[in-house]
Amino acid sequence: MDQVKIEQLVKEIIEQIGEDGTREGLKETPRRVAKSFEKLFGGYKMNAEEMVTEFDGENYDEMIICKNIDFFSNCEHHMQPFFGTVHIGYIPDKKIIGISKLPRLVEIYARRLQNQERLTMQIAEKLSEILKPKGVGVVIQAKHLCMMARGVEKQNTTMITSSCRGLFKTNQLTRSEFLKLIE
Ligand code: ZN
Repeated sequence: MDQVKIEQLVKEIIEQIGEDGTREGLKETPRRVAKSFEKLFGGYKMNAEEMVTEFDGENYDEMIICKNIDFFSNCEHHMQPFFGTVHIGYIPDKKIIGISKLPRLVEIYARRLQNQERLTMQIAEKLSEILKPKGVGVVIQAKHLCMMARGVEKQNTTMITSSCRGLFKTNQLTRSEFLKLIE
C-alpha cells in the first residue's frame, strides 16, 4: 500500500464532496485514513498457511465450535463497513487447530473488500484445506452499513450466510447439532 498516494486521494475526495480540506479538523484526516487502511485492508498481506498452525488431534472426533467471533469488513460494492459475528464448527479427522487461530483465519478474509457470501465460503474452504476435517460449518451474521445508512435504510436487518462441507452438509444430525450449539 502506498500511504502517500492514498493520502493524496483521500484529500481529493474530501475536497470533491465540498469540504475545506485545510480546516483544522480535516487537516490530518488523509493521513489517519491512510493509516487505518493498513488495518482495514491488511488481509491481502496475510498468509493463512503461515499464520495457522495445526496439530495432532489425539483422536478427538467430536464437533469443535468457536462462536461469536467478531469481525469488521468492508463491502466491495460500496466500500462501507459490514460487521457482525462468525461461528465456525468442524469435526476433526486427524488434525486440529489452536482455538485462537480461528479468529485469525477470519481476519485474513475479513480485512479486504468483500461480500459476505464469499467471506463465508473462503473461511470454510481454507479450514477444509488446512485440516482436511470430516466436516466444516461456517455461519456469519452481519449488518451492512450500505444498507443501513443508504439504499433502503433498514436499521435492524441482519444478513445470515452459511457454508457447510462434508458431514455438515450431508448429515442432518451434524448440521442440527451445529446450528443448535451456535444459537
Ligand atoms: Zn454494500
